[in-house]
Amino acid sequence: MSGPGPADGLADVIVVAAGSSRRMDGIDKMQVPIGGKPMLAWTLEALAASPVVERMVVVASAGNLAEISGAPWMPKRVTRVVVGGARRQVSVAAGVNALRDSHVEGAAADRVILVHDGARPLVSAALIESVARAVELYGAAIPGLPVAETVKRVADETVAETVDRSDLVTAQTPQGVRAGLLARAYERYPPDGPETWTDEAALLEACRIAVHVVPGDPSNLKVTQPADLRRVEAMLAVQPSTRVGIGHDSHPFGPGEPLALGGIVIDGAPRLSGHSDGDAALHALADALLGAAGLGDLGRLFPADSRTPRGIPSTELLTAVRDRVAAAGWRPASIDLTIVAARPRLDRHLDAMGDSIASLLRMDREAVNVKASSGNLDGSEGAGRGISALAVATVAGAS
Ligand code: MG
Repeated sequence: MSGPGPADGLADVIVVAAGSSRRMDGIDKMQVPIGGKPMLAWTLEALAASPVVERMVVVASAGNLAEISGAPWMPKRVTRVVVGGARRQVSVAAGVNALRDSHVEGAAADRVILVHDGARPLVSAALIESVARAVELYGAAIPGLPVAETVKRVADETVAETVDRSDLVTAQTPQGVRAGLLARAYERYPPDGPETWTDEAALLEACRIAVHVVPGDPSNLKVTQPADLRRVEAMLAVQPSTRVGIGHDSHPFGPGEPLALGGIVIDGAPRLSGHSDGDAALHALADALLGAAGLGDLGRLFPADSRTPRGIPSTELLTAVRDRVAAAGWRPASIDLTIVAARPRLDRHLDAMGDSIASLLRMDREAVNVKASSGNLDGSEGAGRGISALAVATVAGAS
């Protein structure tokens, strides 16, 4: 949309990145790597690329504040990084305060304030300008997308009604409002009050402030689950880099039962001896992941001494490894695991092991392959004295 005058520097943006409880791939959603950069970096870059945007304030959570504040990728137009609250409206109000502080002359009442989700990295310059222009004209505006699919109201798992969708839209961000109108709304409903608003438009609506709707952008998707990341990667045309790691482990059988192997428990089979539960398959897998991410090995992370609780389930070790790998900017992309054991027979357990591993690593099930060999009567595995495992893992993410 092109307006009457230049739109340069028309708006200040509050970027909400405080959704600390929402975690994907074991790390804070804002820090999830896309093509080697955190998602929030892409979002801020997209906003900074718009000439409409003058200042930006990032609202972080207590958990990610330090990391975001010190980030080397922070655009210069970000004047402050502040801590938000448990509710979105408290976070946005913190951003409004920070903008006021950084405005030496005080925020002018007609200043355009945009609020944008940190999890929408594909926001376009055209959409930003369209919303800012509409705020100039109407006082408040949001982008809305028509509802493409038929909408049903459901009760007790049964369709109760087909809803007329002709006048429905789904609300995107950035949402915009003049600073003075927002201040008026805050006087009526203080952000720390009992009412909860799912977005800024809902607050304005409650104050009978008209909110104009401009056409949204179908590409401006909000990342809420791992599958969205792959769509964003494809749309940003970034090639996630991949690394490969290998892991091997073997344990002899010890006294007692049951057998912990491949992330499951097999009753009626002898236990492997070890400082942990002896799950050689998960140990090989953990080593492969650590190797791929360049993070050493399992023995260094969890030494077989008093620093690691005796008998600890290897599922816990693998979960800890998953989080380390994620914190280093990588996510598991594929797993191939071979277990060598003459006893017990493993063929009927392989699917359950794959399920367990995929769930522990939060991976697509089809990216996890588990197979078994009898050991061909060779070596200690073939003689039934122990079990060994060999794993290859690829990780994707950072460059
Ligand atoms: Mg081991």
